[in-house]
Amino acid sequence: MKVIGVTRGDDGPQLLERERPSPNPGEALVRTLRVGVDGTDHEVLSGSHGGFPDGADHMVLGHEAVGVVEEPNGTGLEAGQVVAPTVRRKPDGETNEYFRRGEPDMAPDGEYTERGIVGDHGFMAEYFTSPADFLVPVPESVAEYGFLVEPLSITEKANEHAYATREPFDWRPESACVLGNGSLGLLTLWMLDQEYDRTYCVGRRDRPDPTVDIIDEIGSTYVDSRETPVDELPAVHEAMDYIYEATGFAPHAFQTVKALDQNGVGVLLGIPEPWEFEVDGGSLHNEIVLHNKCLIGTVNSHVSHFEDAVETLQELPEWLLDDLVTTVTDPEHVEAAFEDGDDQIKAVVEFDSL
Ligand code: NDP
Ligand code: ZN
Repeated sequence: MKVIGVTRGDDGPQLLERERPSPNPGEALVRTLRVGVDGTDHEVLSGSHGGFPDGADHMVLGHEAVGVVEEPNGTGLEAGQVVAPTVRRKPDGETNEYFRRGEPDMAPDGEYTERGIVGDHGFMAEYFTSPADFLVPVPESVAEYGFLVEPLSITEKANEHAYATREPFDWRPESACVLGNGSLGLLTLWMLDQEYDRTYCVGRRDRPDPTVDIIDEIGSTYVDSRETPVDELPAVHEAMDYIYEATGFAPHAFQTVKALDQNGVGVLLGIPEPWEFEVDGGSLHNEIVLHNKCLIGTVNSHVSHFEDAVETLQELPEWLLDDLVTTVTDPEHVEAAFEDGDDQIKAVVEFDSL
C-alpha cells in the first residue's frame, strides 16, 4: 500500500510502499479517506518536534485522519462506519494509569506515543490499524471533513481546561482573542465567535490575504502584531477575557498576561523552540496575582474531546470549510500538501472517498 513518510536524514515527505497492516485482537483495520496537514507536521519534518519510532528508518506522517472501518475484526465496530482516530497510544502496547483513566492526553513524556508525531507511525497510509476504543464515530454527512475532528478536539480540550479555572466565580466573559491565523487559530476563532460578543485575531500579514478574509467573514477584528503588539491590545482595542495562543511565538506567552483583562484566562497551545529573551518577570508575577489572571498550557486531546469536536464539525458553515481547505491532493502529489505559502491554510491528502 502507499504511505507518505519521512526517512531519517531527510526533511521532505516521500511516497513509500509498505505492507498493508493486519489488525491485532482489539484492533480494527481502517481504510483511510483523508489526512490533514498542520503546523505540527511541518515541525515533525524539520525535526524540531516529535521523533521516529524506535529503530525505524522512517516514520509514516499524519495525525489528523478520517477513514472507514474495513475490517471490524470482532471489535464491535461495523464495517463501513466512518471514524476519526485519536492520536496518543500506549508505549510498547503496555498500559498505564493515564490510559486506564481515559486521560492519555495528561500522560507525562515517555508514557505515551503519538501517531505520526512521536514514536509511532501516523495515518498517511491507504490503511491503518487502531484499537477500537481510539476510533471515534463520525457521521457520514461530514466524512469529507472528518480530518478536522482532531484539530477541533484540541480546542475543545483547551477551552474545557481554561474555563474550568474560572468555574469558582461568576465569570462573564465578553471578549476573546486568538493569537495566530493558521488553521488551528482560524477554526478556534469561528468557535469562539459563537460564544463571545467580540472576537479578535492576531496575525502578521498584509491585506489582501486569504486568512484575513476569513477573519473578516467571521466578523472578527484583525490585529496585525507588527502594528499592535499583543501586550498593547488593551490600549488599542480592549483587555481580553480569554486569549487562545496558537502561534508558537514564545513572547506571546508573556504578552498574553498583559493583554488579559482582570480575572481573564490565557491558554497556550504553541510549541516554540528554545529562545532566550528578556521579560519583566516581576511585573508578570504581580499582574497575574493582583488581577486573578490565569495562564494555562494544554496539549493533545482524547475521546470525549473528539466527541465534542464531531458535534462542532457538524455546525461549521460550508463557506468556512470551503475557504479553509486550500489543497486536496492525492498521495502521488503529496508535495502540494506541504507547500507553505501564504495562500495555503489547510492541506489534505486524499487516499480514497466514501
Ligand atoms: P501554523 O504554523 O499554521 O499557524 C501559526 C500562525 O501563527 C501562522 O499563521 C503565523 O503567521 C502566525 N504567527 C506566528 N508568529 C506570529 C507573530 N509574531 N504575530 C502574529 N502571528 C504570528 O500552525 P497551526 O495553526 O497548525 O498551529 C498553531 C500552533 O499550535 C503551532 O505552534 C502548533 O505546533 C501548535 N499546536 C499545538 C497543539 C497542542 O496540542 N498544544 C496541537 C496543534 C498545534 P504567518 O503564517 O504569517 O507566519
Ligand atoms: Zn495537529
